Amino acid sequence: RDEIIIKVIDQPSASKDGVPIALMANVEGAREMEHVNAMNADGVGLFRTEGIFLRHHGYPPESVQYDEYLAVAEAAGDNPVIVRTLDIGGDKTIDDDNVKDDSSFMGFRAIRFCLENLDIFKTQIRAILRASAKGNVKIMYPMISGVLELRKANEVLESVKQELRSEGIDFDENIEVGAMVEVPSAAMIIDIIAKEVDFLSIGTNDLIQYLMAVDRLNDRVAHLYQPAHPAVLRSLKSIIDGGREAGIPVSICGEIAGEPAFAALLLGMGASSLSMTANLLPEVKYFIRNINQSEAIALVEEVMALGDSDANAKALEAFRREKM
Ligand code: PEP
Ligand code: MG
Repeated sequence: RDEIIIKVIDQPSASKDGVPIALMANVEGAREMEHVNAMNADGVGLFRTEGIFLRHHGYPPESVQYDEYLAVAEAAGDNPVIVRTLDIGGDKTIDDDNVKDDSSFMGFRAIRFCLENLDIFKTQIRAILRASAKGNVKIMYPMISGVLELRKANEVLESVKQELRSEGIDFDENIEVGAMVEVPSAAMIIDIIAKEVDFLSIGTNDLIQYLMAVDRLNDRVAHLYQPAHPAVLRSLKSIIDGGREAGIPVSICGEIAGEPAFAALLLGMGASSLSMTANLLPEVKYFIRNINQSEAIALVEEVMALGDSDANAKALEAFRREKM
C-alpha cells in the first residue's frame, strides 16, 4: 500500500489515456483535512455535516458551523468543498425527540426535516454561505425526491442570501447548488432535476437500499443489498447520461465509488468525479491510472449485457484482477 501511495500521490487523477476524473474525499469535519491533503484529494466531494451536529449534542449555532465549514474550505485551498445540508434521521440520529421518534429510512429525515425546521435549515445555510466568501464552497441537498422539494430548498437559500445582502455580509453570489440523487423518484426524472441544479451527486448507499427495498442496516437482508444488480447499474448509467445531456457534472459519493472495479465502471459511464473515504483514494487512483477509457467503456458494455448481479459482480471482479 505504501508503494502505491508513493507511486500515485503526485500524479493527476485520470485514466491511462488522460481522461480526467476528479478523486475527492468524503469528510465529517476539519479534523480529517490533514489526512485528506496527505492523500492529495482533488477536494471534498461530500462534507457530511451531521458530524458537527452530533459532536455538539444538539443544534450548533451559526458561529460553530461557520468555523467548521471555513476550516474545511481553507484546508482544501482552491479545491472545491461540497457541503451537504443536514441529513439526520435514518442511521444518523441526533439528540432531538422530534427526530428520534421517527428514525426510519423512509421517514422524517434530511431535506424533509430541514424544510419543516426552517430555523435550523436557515442557520446552516447562512453559515455555509458565509464560508463561501472565503473558499471554493458548493451546497448540496440530500434526499431530494422531486423538483418541488428542490425549489422549496432554493427559496430558502434565496431568502438567506437576501438577508445577508441586506446585512452587508459577503458570500459567493455564484455559489453552485447541487442535489444528491439517492431516491429512485429523482433518478427517474433526472432530466427534470438536472435542469434546475449545477451538479448532481449520486448517493449509492441510499439509492441501492431504496431501489432494492433493502434496509442498509438490516443483516438479515444484507445479501440482497446488491450494488451490481442490473437495476442499480441501469440507474447509475441513466443518471450519468441525464447529467451529461443537461451539461452538468455528475459525481458518485456512495461507498461503491471507492471500489476500484466500480470506479472504472463509473469512469466508463462518464462520471466527472468520485468521492470516497480518503484512505481509499490512492488505490482507486492507481487503478484508474492503469486503464484506458476504452477499456472502462467496454466494461460498461459487458456488464450492461449481463442479466444478474452475480454475473455482474463476477465480471467486475475479473476486471479488477486483470488490471490491478
Ligand atoms: C449515500 O447515500 O450514498 C451517501 C453518500 O450518503 P449517506 O451515506 O450519508 O446517506
Ligand atoms: Mg444518503
